[in-house]
Amino acid sequence: MTQEKTIWENLKPDEETKLESVSSGYIDFLCKAKTEAEAVDYFMEHLLKEGFQDLEKLDKLKPGTKFYFNHIGRTLAAGIVGKNDLKNGLFIIASHIDSPRLDLKPRPLYEDSDTHTALLKTQYYGGVKKYQWVNVPLALHGRIFTKDGRVIKVNLGEDEKEPVLLIPDLLPHISKMQRDRKLFDGIAAEELNAIAGSRPGDFKEEKFKGYVLNMLKERYSVEEEDLASADLALVPAGKAREGGFDSSLVIGYGHDDKASAYTSFRAFQDIKEPEDTVLVLFFDKEEIGSQGTSGSQSNFLEYVATMLLHKLTGQSDNFHLLSLLRKSNVISSDVDAAMDPSFKSAHDEHNAAKLGSGIVIAKYSGYGGKFEGSEAPGEFVAFVRKIFEKHNVPYQFGTLGKVDEGGGGTVAQDFARHGMNVVDAGAPVLGMHAPFEIVSKADLYSCYKAYKAFMLH
Ligand code: MN
Ligand code: MN
Repeated sequence: MTQEKTIWENLKPDEETKLESVSSGYIDFLCKAKTEAEAVDYFMEHLLKEGFQDLEKLDKLKPGTKFYFNHIGRTLAAGIVGKNDLKNGLFIIASHIDSPRLDLKPRPLYEDSDTHTALLKTQYYGGVKKYQWVNVPLALHGRIFTKDGRVIKVNLGEDEKEPVLLIPDLLPHISKMQRDRKLFDGIAAEELNAIAGSRPGDFKEEKFKGYVLNMLKERYSVEEEDLASADLALVPAGKAREGGFDSSLVIGYGHDDKASAYTSFRAFQDIKEPEDTVLVLFFDKEEIGSQGTSGSQSNFLEYVATMLLHKLTGQSDNFHLLSLLRKSNVISSDVDAAMDPSFKSAHDEHNAAKLGSGIVIAKYSGYGGKFEGSEAPGEFVAFVRKIFEKHNVPYQFGTLGKVDEGGGGTVAQDFARHGMNVVDAGAPVLGMHAPFEIVSKADLYSCYKAYKAFMLH
């Protein structure tokens, strides 16, 4: 039910325990999964422990079969075959597991001998306010792939004994030139260079860079060129934490969209023998437009659905695939903007989501005159409301901000184009796309309940 009161005011004692359990699990997830690959690793570990099997290797499926499909370790589907087979379509919760960050360029390492430093060149990934990413301790996450087939996992800067990197902003004392820049240009993209070292090695040239390269060789057994065949990113270092004097919040990196990914996975883990086949999908590349082999614009969903059809019914031609997709139901689970107490005028106060009032149903996304968004038909919003109310899920409606103030998109359109029923719904977040964001524990709990309700419907 939509409500004036917050979730906290209606919380029963047994719900308080569950709420804390969901948020502490979430904090653990945020600490372990800062990149899409780490999120897939986290989910895979749980799926394998819980007896899920590789869909590609399964011959026949029957009600209750638990399966997964892992595409290049960056995009993941997990599902359970329902008692009704595919008669009522699929019930899907789809989120994304990539978050804004600073990727390393293919040739990241350079030396500035004037300043006695070695630095890493970065390229921002996703819609960031660049000035927020300076003076924040950064950890290096990702994988390096070598020509001889080695895969080196990199996770440096999370352990307190390990070093972190920093992109220093100019000191205020001599910032007159910088002060005249517009806020958004306060830090330019090519100024996002992280200090990687300041100690000279015993080389004739490039002694600062040489020293860092030697460290990389020692630690990871890689050459400089191997950094070009790598997926490396700088992400905010450190753990997610409880926030507020009342510990009602979670402050951490990557609520967009790990909050949806975790709560949908947690809800999915509670589903045992569903009536209809359920799927949770975790996509990469949403923050840069969902293109690419691991994004939702790829044919990942069609491939998973085709395998399901083939192994359940033997009829997996295009007609049967399209028919299955057209009758399927999807929640595109992505975070929304919570009304910012210090910037209320950026929101339409009548239509802004509030912290602690539950999962936000966003009927449509896009910007301006609903351009480039995806809008759920009213009847599907009604269908979802009915499910939420049947299962006592507190929820609210929201739009991203004032019309013409900006906007955004989600993976919803990649389902809508198949004629699927899809609506966006996720937790309200403060400070979205910043190195550290704020989400309410109550809203995480509401999302968990909502996604579970949808799968049970
Ligand atoms: Mn998102
Ligand atoms: Mn985003």
